[in-house]
Amino acid sequence: MKKVGVFGGTFSPPHNGHVEAAKAFIDELDLNSLIVMPTNIPPHKTVKDNDPIARYNMACLAFSDIPKTEVSNYEISRCEKSYTAKTLSYLKKEDISLFFLCGTDMFLTLKDWYRPDIICALSTIVLTRRNSECDAEIMREKALLCEKYSASVIILKHEPLDISSTIVRQTIKAKGDISTLVPEKVREYIYSHRLYENG
Ligand code: ATP
Repeated sequence: MKKVGVFGGTFSPPHNGHVEAAKAFIDELDLNSLIVMPTNIPPHKTVKDNDPIARYNMACLAFSDIPKTEVSNYEISRCEKSYTAKTLSYLKKEDISLFFLCGTDMFLTLKDWYRPDIICALSTIVLTRRNSECDAEIMREKALLCEKYSASVIILKHEPLDISSTIVRQTIKAKGDISTLVPEKVREYIYSHRLYENG
């Protein structure tokens, strides 16, 4: 069986926290390949500057140099809301085991997503922590997903970087320096396209 990782997100913009989590995902799970999936109109959140093409282009710049990794336009090229259950159904093949990466915020809401039963049946859920404060909540959620949906959950050992897209956008708006927050090519794309100047 080939081990294929899936890393979905808004990526508005992609940042070094995403990139390091993706690398740890590949290494710790010994993945054969990783698919980064920028989402279309996410059901869970309102997105500032929701330009799917810009987010896709920035994801290519951020992730494409990571070995075994490709960025997919599957979700953003479809004119409908993105649902992970549908995307995983599309990616699942007989000879492929899917591993679905999510950060703590996503993991804690997973049970409320569209068809969590399908998500848990088609993939192993891989959690990358974003801080250590939610550990009790994470364990409760893990137990719930295991009991209700027979989920398999793996928690990465990776120490996350304390970066979010929100912080990147706020820093740009405040005319601060984002060079330690995002990959250099993403920084250049943001400034040449004048993204996020208004927040
Ligand atoms: P925003 O600040 O706009 O909410 P975000 O930084 O959470 O954005 P997303 O594109 O929403 O970025 O995140 C995509 C996935 O990456 C989610 O599963 C999220 O939990 C995870 N993630 C985001 N930032 C980090 C980080 N620093 N370390 C590990 N995982 C992260």
